[in-house]
Amino acid sequence: MTTLGDRPYRTSHEALTQVKNIFCVGRNYREHAAELGNDVPSKPMIFGKSTHALAPAQGEIRLPAGRENVHHELEIVLWMKGPWRPGASLAEAVGGIALGLDLTDRDAQSALKKAGQPWEFAKGFRGSAVITDFYPVTDWRALLETPFELRIGERVAQSGFAKDMIFPFETLVAYVHEHFGLDADDLLFTGTPAGVGPLHDGDELTLVFDGRVWGRCRVAR
Ligand code: ZN
Repeated sequence: MTTLGDRPYRTSHEALTQVKNIFCVGRNYREHAAELGNDVPSKPMIFGKSTHALAPAQGEIRLPAGRENVHHELEIVLWMKGPWRPGASLAEAVGGIALGLDLTDRDAQSALKKAGQPWEFAKGFRGSAVITDFYPVTDWRALLETPFELRIGERVAQSGFAKDMIFPFETLVAYVHEHFGLDADDLLFTGTPAGVGPLHDGDELTLVFDGRVWGRCRVAR
């Protein structure tokens, strides 16, 4: 396996104290946009989470009380190692990648969408940015063809390939840099493939990259 280095670039626990900003992109896989009845966007749809949302994909992940329909969104997450410069390569700008869960209160999100209000309440709650350790990428081209998946118990709930992204990594990084700034120790969640669905108390989650288990955790309320 040559896509990734063996030793973590940063661990999920280091992220808790080192990460500065968290950016996410919505609807970046065509089949996922379709499953929620959304149009495919013509430019990246960016939102943010605070660093209080970070939670390692280990042990228990706690869902906040009073939220009945929290969905998993499995995503590749980039950890920036320096400022993005136009024309730079991903290898120069990104220190490592993780798998993450962009946890989403789907009922709240639907209500906010209908009301034309920001998504923060549905997307930015404590513990809503679950992350594994981050690994350095040695072959960005091979990464596009590498499968990643989320298992709930024995069932494969989500699986995807980065090659199916509507906006590729380079476009996302350049766009976020242009409009919001993007620098060392910022994270970028790059969107979820199809198969999102609700989490339940006691669910055993396994985050798998190319057949390797990167994260294992249990849902608790
Ligand atoms: Zn997402």
